[in-house]
Amino acid sequence: MSKQTGGCLCGQVKYSLDTDSALGGVHCHCLDCQKSTGSGKATIVPIPEKDLHLEGTLKYYSVVGTSGASVERGFCENCGSPIISAVVGPAEWEGIKFIKAGSLDDSSWIIVGASIWKSTATHWSPAEAGLTTFEHNLEG
Ligand SMILES: [Zn+2]
Ligand SMILES: [Zn+2]
Repeated sequence: MSKQTGGCLCGQVKYSLDTDSALGGVHCHCLDCQKSTGSGKATIVPIPEKDLHLEGTLKYYSVVGTSGASVERGFCENCGSPIISAVVGPAEWEGIKFIKAGSLDDSSWIIVGASIWKSTATHWSPAEAGLTTFEHNLEG
């Protein structure tokens, strides 16, 4: 059991979590992740909400994703760093938050297990060879 910390660029938002609760990293190449990170993908780490301790105020932007469920994206209102997201609606994602791996102070322990949304990956940031890859979300 090891505690890890993370936060935004300016330091107004901080969090801590227990690495035992984190479910392994996923590279998401969906268009919304590309827009919201300004990059080719977001690397996200699912964690039960109860094991995530957040300090500071996040601003949320909600958007309806391709699956029809709403995705809430939380970012620091001061510096704009994306910190967490959550899928609102489907029961299987209830109580789960997705941490942006790059917001961790030390992300060396993250093991990425899958790439999702290969169908919208760019040639300059392709789905990584050797990872379990899904054309769309985790269901396929
Ligand atoms: Zn900030
Ligand atoms: Zn995405």
